[in-house]
Amino acid sequence: AMIDLQIKSAIRDIPDFPKPGIVFKDITPILKDPSLCEAIVDNFVARVQGLKIDAVAGIESRGFLFGLQLAGKLGVPFVPVRKAGKLPFSVKQKEYELEYGTATIEVHTDAFKPGQHILVHDDLLATGGTVTAASDLIIEMGGIIAGFTFVVGLNFLNGKEKIKHFADKVVVLAE
Ligand code: 5GP
Repeated sequence: AMIDLQIKSAIRDIPDFPKPGIVFKDITPILKDPSLCEAIVDNFVARVQGLKIDAVAGIESRGFLFGLQLAGKLGVPFVPVRKAGKLPFSVKQKEYELEYGTATIEVHTDAFKPGQHILVHDDLLATGGTVTAASDLIIEMGGIIAGFTFVVGLNFLNGKEKIKHFADKVVVLAE
């Protein structure tokens, strides 16, 4: 489709960021193109048609960029998923494994109600570790995973494998 080519041509590869050997996909050039941003959100809306969605959870920090807009267009609340120590109210935490060490994400305990269907959004799917932690946390809080949306997917890192049990509920615009 057109949108994946537009996304791919806008994204900038940054070698050796944040450390040597990593080629970072810089999505910030997308943000300079308002019509592309609008097309991204509209594509998400079209492709999650048919899913029951009560809220959109966006992962800090680039998951906030399109996550809040998507929630707005769907007319549902936005749930911020943040790194430990950032959310001011009472939180539920989830620790997860990184390549070296661990990380912790948090959600406010009143961010959604048990039984609600939560769409998990992030800018980019790499190994899938982050969204798996986020969806596990949401499930532990009584939520139901409605699906996943990503602007970009890095296929060589097999992130889709980690969330394959959600098969047809995973939307990746450019991969
Ligand atoms: P994963 O947990 O799937 O390995 O990594 C995905 C998470 O790391 C997402 O929150 C994403 O924002 C961030 N991330 C990892 N690599 C990149 C990259 O090359 N570009 C961008 N924009 N984000 C990345």
